[in-house]
Amino acid sequence: MRVLVTGGAGFIGSAVCRHFIVDLGYDVVVLDKMTYAGNLASLAPVASSPHYVFEKHDICDSASVNAIFAKYEPDAVVHLAAESHVDRSISGSDVFVQTNVIGTFTLLEAARSYLKTRKSAIDFRFIHVSTDEVYGSLGADGLFTETTPYDPSSPYSATKAASDHLAKAWHRTYGMPVIVSNCSNNYGPYHFPEKLIPLVILNALDRKTLPVYGDGSNVRDWLYVEDHARALGVILLKGVPGETYNIGGRNERKNLDVVEQICTWMDELRPANSSHHDLISFVTDRPGHDQRYAIDASKLENELGWRAQETFETGIEKTVRWYLDNAHWWEPLRHKVYGGERLGLVKA
Ligand code: NAD
Repeated sequence: MRVLVTGGAGFIGSAVCRHFIVDLGYDVVVLDKMTYAGNLASLAPVASSPHYVFEKHDICDSASVNAIFAKYEPDAVVHLAAESHVDRSISGSDVFVQTNVIGTFTLLEAARSYLKTRKSAIDFRFIHVSTDEVYGSLGADGLFTETTPYDPSSPYSATKAASDHLAKAWHRTYGMPVIVSNCSNNYGPYHFPEKLIPLVILNALDRKTLPVYGDGSNVRDWLYVEDHARALGVILLKGVPGETYNIGGRNERKNLDVVEQICTWMDELRPANSSHHDLISFVTDRPGHDQRYAIDASKLENELGWRAQETFETGIEKTVRWYLDNAHWWEPLRHKVYGGERLGLVKA
């Protein structure tokens, strides 16, 4: 199996590459533009593998994408390349429309034209990796299922919703073997430090304030990134073309509880003069901040047999320990790429 992984130098993409190469023995071709979020250090564990190839290109560049399909003749595409940070989409949505919508369109068209001449007997699959944020916000009750209507709130989720519709249309109209997955919030090793969990760990380490948006009551359904990578492996092998699968870990937590749990681990692992809990600071809320996300993953669990292996408690301990042990990975990012400043406030 040779898999083209777009966005393979990103947080989830690199976990997918490590899982596919190390655990499943697949050949992986990474196609990545290397934006601020792309990091070859996240692929270091597989960089010397004969099963790994890296290609630096923009998924919006159709000539390059067509050439990659012709050169490597992949058996599957796992499409993760995207602009992924909601706060950045509020400050500047242009690149989100370009990469998430036009880039996905370009990739779908390249795959469609490649399939016209493809000779391999292996069934081709195109996995379009998306988010639960396309469903909008839940109230206190209920879960997102695969039939929940789309109702995106942010420029990020609106562009992901658009790309999901394109992917599904390419299945219905052209018969392309496309599968869409919608996953809840991921966390774990190699997470770019603009996102809540790594930001809080690194700020706590520096004894800086720990920003909590609004009153911290927003709920997210956390999934350990390696569980997501395993889910995509299962969907690739057993998923049915044209279907959508929700991926989630049944780990709903309020943002404030997540930050408190990290503080408790930091108090244990890096005790300081005062508790890390004292660094928590409530800051202006995100515009259009969705209140609650929660995934019903029973279709993926019952039909394809996937189960999350980590609880939030086991996953967050591993994650805090990983950041404490891997300063060589995050220090260059913290100093040169993103220093922890607030993003995504709408200026009057
Ligand atoms: P990320 O920002 O860490 O990585 C994105 C990768 O895509 C980077 O390596 C970047 O260089 C690359 N990229 C960006 N624009 C590109 C372009 N035009 N051409 C080629 N490569 C480009 O993102 P992530 O958190 O790993 O998310 C991966 C995918 O999973 C995204 O599609 C995202 O919408 C989806 N997703 C993320 C989460 C989450 O919690 N992080 C949850 C559900 C779904």
